[in-house]
Amino acid sequence: MGKLVVHKYGGTSMGSVERIQSVAKRVAKWYRQGYRLVVVPSAMSGETDKLLNLAKQFQHPEVHDASYKRALDMLASTGEQVSSALLAVALLKEGVPAVSYAGWQVPIRTDSLFTKARIVDIERDRIDEHLALNQVVIITGFQGVDKNGHITTLGRGGSDTSAVAIAVAIKASECLIYTDVDGVYSTDPRLEPKATLKSYLSFEEMLEMASLGSKVLHLRSVEFAMKYNMPVRVLSSFTPADLDLSKEAQSGTLITFEKDKMMEQAVVSSVACSRNEAKISVFHVPDKPGVAFTILQAIAAASIDVDMIVQNVGKGAKTDFSFTVARGDYTQAIKVIQEIAPKLGQCEIQGDDTICKVSIVGIGMRSHAGVASTMFETLSRENINILMISTSEIKTSVVIEEKYMELAVRVLHQAFGLHLGATPI
Ligand code: ADP
Ligand code: ASP
Ligand code: MG
Repeated sequence: MGKLVVHKYGGTSMGSVERIQSVAKRVAKWYRQGYRLVVVPSAMSGETDKLLNLAKQFQHPEVHDASYKRALDMLASTGEQVSSALLAVALLKEGVPAVSYAGWQVPIRTDSLFTKARIVDIERDRIDEHLALNQVVIITGFQGVDKNGHITTLGRGGSDTSAVAIAVAIKASECLIYTDVDGVYSTDPRLEPKATLKSYLSFEEMLEMASLGSKVLHLRSVEFAMKYNMPVRVLSSFTPADLDLSKEAQSGTLITFEKDKMMEQAVVSSVACSRNEAKISVFHVPDKPGVAFTILQAIAAASIDVDMIVQNVGKGAKTDFSFTVARGDYTQAIKVIQEIAPKLGQCEIQGDDTICKVSIVGIGMRSHAGVASTMFETLSRENINILMISTSEIKTSVVIEEKYMELAVRVLHQAFGLHLGATPI
């Protein structure tokens, strides 16, 4: 029996009839060489935005409740249904037996957190039946169904997670994420043309990069892959569809646990950035136990994730408290804090959604002092003011004004020698 693999194709890769045709040719090539395949397409590029923008036109006054989010999921999930059906058509015309399914038909079961649901389990029987009939199985990315039969979506960029979760469920040998760049680079190659391509990357490093905003992989896809040790390869769908398969299968970036295959571990191996940030500060809150809890519990109760948290040293029984959230949650987070403000005394609330986060990442950082100070020095030379800082063993992140993001990425990339390839320890 041929090897079982999962292919995922992103929005740009599925962006037009010609692109879908090229995907079909590529899948057909793998199929004809004996591979068993499950293919997970994203919506055609721009489609999810277009659908969600339609809903925004009705959004007055602002609503955030579950029934509204449920409606958004019904809407957004249709983008992947269209591209999956079109890919089935293209494959059938290519002479390859193919069958397409929406996530709820498989089913891919999720929790009920509309717009950012988590996959709970995937039933593999139906997939297996079709694979046994030598068919290519196409499954919509980005979506599933909750225990009440409601369609859910997994958060923007979530098709990567669908693909990896399916690969885990059917015990595929590898999950190939086809996208519009050649693999994972030392930073976003669209911001820094001198970025260098990585052949191998550890799950740990990729996890950090994804969580810091490198949108090349959805964070939860990396979590899944790491938890179940599923090798993930990020590669281009823009190479010729008839490229030699053995060459294609080795191209791009392989993300695994296999340390021996890894490039030498760099002190700093990548620069990540994210515009998807907003900062909320609550000034003059009482400096007493329970205040951080009051603020953060209210935010968590609204299902909003908090990223960085900073509390100043108290002065005269008062202190200031700041935290960051995803930009999409900003308006709702401000509303939540305004609602609990009476519990926080004479406080003042200030928000800013024109910030961004820039981070340096590297497994080698854990044994090297002075990396953060090089980062701060590099930014200060450009007169970039740091608004917040957070560190872990293998990353240092700063929040800065959004207008400095590209500049910060480029000078840090240069300062750590990433244009030369990763600097080994
Ligand atoms: P897809 O539609 O295939 O899912 P995405 O747009 O979600 O593609 O992800 C690919 C994009 O990720 C690239 O076009 C690139 O601009 C961006 N990106 C950000 N950081 C990196 C990085 N370190 N390496 C490669 N691509 C990156
Ligand atoms: N179509 C969805 C989005 O645009 C999911 C994905 O592309 O992964 O976010
Ligand atoms: Mg993506």
